[in-house]
Amino acid sequence: MKRQKNGAFRKGAHGAMVMIDNDREGTVLRIERSSIHDGDGFRTVVFLKGCPLCCQWCSTPESQKFEPEQAGETRYGSRMKVEDVIREIRKDSLFFFISTGGVTISGGEPLAQPEFTKAILQNCKKECFNTAMETTFFASWEQISSILPYLNTVFVDLKLVSREKHIAFCGVDNEQILQNLLHTNDAEGNFRLIVRTPIVPGVNDSEEELEKIGAFAASLTRLRHIQLLPYHRLGTGTYQKLGRPYLLEGVKSPSAGEMERCRATVRRFVENTV
Ligand code: SF4
Repeated sequence: MKRQKNGAFRKGAHGAMVMIDNDREGTVLRIERSSIHDGDGFRTVVFLKGCPLCCQWCSTPESQKFEPEQAGETRYGSRMKVEDVIREIRKDSLFFFISTGGVTISGGEPLAQPEFTKAILQNCKKECFNTAMETTFFASWEQISSILPYLNTVFVDLKLVSREKHIAFCGVDNEQILQNLLHTNDAEGNFRLIVRTPIVPGVNDSEEELEKIGAFAASLTRLRHIQLLPYHRLGTGTYQKLGRPYLLEGVKSPSAGEMERCRATVRRFVENTV
């Protein structure tokens, strides 16, 4: 079998040999090591730059634009080849094996650079690293389904079920996101589906919206659990640095009691709500 320049072959999901495009370039925001919040064990998290959404509570505004940007002394993002990313990931392989950790691709939105994301994950599978992806699922199902076979865990944000509110607070229609989540019911692959909802006061913490979120999540047959995460104000300093307005000024993080109320509502639909 012929091997192309800087490419590598590996067995695909159905045993066929597939070509991995190690020369492909993408825009990486940063690579973080030893994270314990983005999957099992210690994770090396590859944050890709660029997101088609613009959530008003986004805590990483530096991840939204697709191209690298400069704010004062700070440079956000750089162009990297797949092989460069994999070289960085490999440095942590010992930690993956002793902590049952692995690699998480996050963003921004990793599905906005689908071929780059896929090539990184294909390499990770070739090296037997556990893989996860944090995504909004705002992409075509064709792109998503081509990546799922290389994933152990998929974390999907479900911010709002109400369409008009999703457009108002996240900048895009959520129809495609909801449809893609439903497609996972029949998808191939052994991935775990975990849904995450940031609880943002005044946006999605009403009983009505929480019931919609719970009822929708209950229709997902692959769902392991739904995680409700309290809104926080980390990242507001970065808005200042980037010269962008922070639209949720004055909104406070929900209290522990408020979070428990939200969990109790969603738990009426999905027992495994954490
Ligand atoms: S999807 Fe995530 S990265 Fe994109 S704007 Fe929303 S919070 Fe920020």
